[in-house]
Amino acid sequence: MKLIAVSKTHPSEQIMEAYRAGQSDFGENKVQELISKAPLLPNDINWHLIGHLQSNKLKYIAPFIHTIHSVDSLKLLSLIQKEAQKNNRTIECLLQVHIAMEETKFGMSEAELTSLLTSGEHLTMDHIRIRGLMGMASFTDDMDQVRGEFRYLRSLFMKIKQTFFAEKEFFNQLSMGMSSDYHVAIEEGSTMVRIGSSIFGERNYSS
Ligand SMILES: *Cc1c(COP(=O)(O)O)cnc(C)c1O
Repeated sequence: MKLIAVSKTHPSEQIMEAYRAGQSDFGENKVQELISKAPLLPNDINWHLIGHLQSNKLKYIAPFIHTIHSVDSLKLLSLIQKEAQKNNRTIECLLQVHIAMEETKFGMSEAELTSLLTSGEHLTMDHIRIRGLMGMASFTDDMDQVRGEFRYLRSLFMKIKQTFFAEKEFFNQLSMGMSSDYHVAIEEGSTMVRIGSSIFGERNYSS
């Protein structure tokens, strides 16, 4: 189980405090915020982009980003390949699946995910590594609903692994669970939880 400490809206001093306590993986959801904080912090931090990525901003994070959790198109995947190659790096990617009831959340449908992988184009991309899937459950107190969504994502993960990554040991990450639902996500097979407010406190968007 990997803990991604989601540090968005919190200053680099607070990130440093968590780093000193032994935390190595941090998540941000905005490129702008990520590139303003990362240079102030130790360069052995693994940075995770967990929010939607606009393709024109990719070049700013390509030199250092560890994992992008929000890959939701073949176009974005090939751009990541291109920018990673320019930087002579490999960038780890998770394919984001839409599992929530809300229309507004990003991510692919099962059909879109399957078609992306069926194309086989990712097989030619030698500077990315698809590590698994990511999803966000519905914003609700109904934990049965949330559990059902996580269970669905886990079963999709198993199916995708079997169909497209059968001999690929590295396809082994399932990023699901936040402060409000990580306990359910872990019970349903999460390997990466993305936790913000339970670690850093409530976010203050006004500052
Ligand atoms: C903010 C955020 C989180 C963490 O949310 P908390 O409720 O503070 O734990 C996790 N995943 C994504 C994609 C986020 O944007």
